Amino acid sequence: MSDLYNQDVSFDSTLFVRLLCANTKIVVPNYIEITFQAGWKNIVEELIKSISRYPIELVQISDLYSLLDVRFEVLKQTREVNIWRAIDQARQLSKTTCAQCGNDKNSWERNIPSHKLCKSCFKNSGRNNKTGTWLDKY
Ligand SMILES: [Zn+2]
Repeated sequence: MSDLYNQDVSFDSTLFVRLLCANTKIVVPNYIEITFQAGWKNIVEELIKSISRYPIELVQISDLYSLLDVRFEVLKQTREVNIWRAIDQARQLSKTTCAQCGNDKNSWERNIPSHKLCKSCFKNSGRNNKTGTWLDKY
């Protein structure tokens, strides 16, 4: 039952990304909008690592529509295709990873493609009136 309290409510995705991008070529502007839950920390960390040598400016990282979405601007001549590949890989991973606890959610999610949460997080999501889907944004 301990997983009831797994949700890291103090997780600050903006701060997390800012710290990851410190001392890299990635620029994180002040106005940037970064919203994703703690379960996708590892995915985002791997993504930032794999693109950290490219001079880009992040525009947005979001979990709208239940997938990790990353937007960026190219600052200098750069291998843009490599960045797109890395972002697509992160997006595919977010498809099968619970946005809340980071566990594999593939086993049950198949029939409900818009779900960001694994079964156990979904069961507990009624407690905070979240549905675990993109509807939570509204
Ligand atoms: Zn979960």
